[in-house]
Amino acid sequence: MNTRLAAAIRDIPDFPKPGILFKDITPILGDPTLFREAVEIFVARHAGKGLGKVAAIDARGFIFGGAIAQRLGVGFVPIRKKGKLPFRTHDESYDLEYGSNTICVHVDAFRPGEKVLILDDLLATGGTAAAAARLVQRAGGRIAEIDFLIELTFLKGREKLADFPVFAVIQV
Ligand code: AMP
Repeated sequence: MNTRLAAAIRDIPDFPKPGILFKDITPILGDPTLFREAVEIFVARHAGKGLGKVAAIDARGFIFGGAIAQRLGVGFVPIRKKGKLPFRTHDESYDLEYGSNTICVHVDAFRPGEKVLILDDLLATGGTAAAAARLVQRAGGRIAEIDFLIELTFLKGREKLADFPVFAVIQV
């Protein structure tokens, strides 16, 4: 675990609802050294492994996903909340730690069998990432790994992702 990155995460109690301890990553993003360090951990892990796409989850996943895709020299695919993508989509619904949600991906986002890294900032209950995995598979991608900056281990989100390799930089 990267202690400098872990130390920079700011805990915000009761956001966006009472009882949620929100993990605020903006102190990492605001520090160019820490931001680069985070991006380079994912880049080192996946360089030279034949990835075709980085597919990142709306919205904080995009911040890391775009940078990682550029560094790896592969394409970027946004997995977005319903109603945001302009072309035809696959849709998947799920429950999350607070509320419920539907996420979508363009039907032509991946070449058949293309290796895909799914990326988000944080793994909580795993509902979001499991829905993202279903989307990638429905769109023809092959999941290489599902990666997070932060994993809230006590919520056991990995259990929902048992069919796939999962990696988190920081486990709390
Ligand atoms: P889940 O589907 O429960 O794994 O929730 C993961 C998604 O919700 C990610 O996109 C996170 O950005 C967001 N999220 C859930 N819980 C938190 C939290 N405690 N702090 C920050 N983001 C969270």
